[in-house]
Amino acid sequence: MVRITHYRYKCIGCAYCVEVAPDFWKMNENDGKSDLIGSKTKNNIQMLITDDLSFDANMRAAEVCPVSCIKVEKY
Ligand code: SF4
Repeated sequence: MVRITHYRYKCIGCAYCVEVAPDFWKMNENDGKSDLIGSKTKNNIQMLITDDLSFDANMRAAEVCPVSCIKVEKY
């Protein structure tokens, strides 16, 4: 399984994550930050538990994020 965490309060809205992993990320029209699709939000941190197939795309998102607010872990 893969756990993806988005420290959304740090997001600067560059949309790079959406460009490299559009199946998992979308831009939020209300505040211009990105959202991790299907995640739960608490204290402006989003978390999604998903399968291993999501690992590579989200690792790319984490790598391109200029403020390092995406964390991807296998467990
Ligand atoms: S790449 Fe990072 S800073 Fe840019 S929109 Fe995605 S989460 Fe936000």
